[in-house]
Amino acid sequence: MKTSLERLKFVRHRIEKACITAGRQSHQVSLLAVSKKQPSEKIRIFNKLGLSSFGENKLQEALQKQRELTDLDLEWHFIGAIQSNKTREIAENFNWVQSVDRLKVLNRLSTQRPEQLDPLNICLQVNIDREPQKAGASPEEIMQLAEISEGLANIRLRGLMAIPRMTNVPEEQHLSFKKVRMLFDRLAKAGHDVDTLSMGMSSDLEIAIAEGSTMVRIGTDLLGIRET
Ligand SMILES: *Cc1c(COP(=O)(O)O)cnc(C)c1O
Repeated sequence: MKTSLERLKFVRHRIEKACITAGRQSHQVSLLAVSKKQPSEKIRIFNKLGLSSFGENKLQEALQKQRELTDLDLEWHFIGAIQSNKTREIAENFNWVQSVDRLKVLNRLSTQRPEQLDPLNICLQVNIDREPQKAGASPEEIMQLAEISEGLANIRLRGLMAIPRMTNVPEEQHLSFKKVRMLFDRLAKAGHDVDTLSMGMSSDLEIAIAEGSTMVRIGTDLLGIRET
């Protein structure tokens, strides 16, 4: 069994290697630890090892861990499907929401973000391969949502999040990530002040970094097999 430190070193090594290959600098890619279905104790361990950003995809599970970890200074990212009746608790308890894919949710998050907190950091989730079963807005909808987000007081648009289609064909995998990157560039060209391209998970972080990812979201290879 690998220790947590060994896992962290290995993931960091992979990120560094991918950056070198891509001619990028490793500080350009941040690491989000995806702690879904992992106990609070694991978050504590990885925080001691230097990580402070954690991603969760289920609201109740996340709130429970937040209550158990109030003594730590953590940055929480919501990365799961959002029901619109849950937006208030999300707006009140997270620093980032990476899975915004429709107007209703965007509006509610802005309205419900408490005034005394910083604006909520948002990534719009794009369904880049237009897979019917998958969450995320179409590229056209993304451009509209970005435009609207600029007028919302308590939202700060940071960029895009995507989970491209899984395939064993490396060229296809590259192409999907490249399409996300091109949409990100379009947002920047349209005048949006975006700095975050959240793509790449345990199995494909190298390809995502080659195509311009600035944030990889790593669960399994960092925290181990999830409890079910
Ligand atoms: C679970 C999850 C991840 C991490 O996946 P791993 O393959 O375990 O690294 C990343 N992003 C999202 C949105 C997830 O739900």
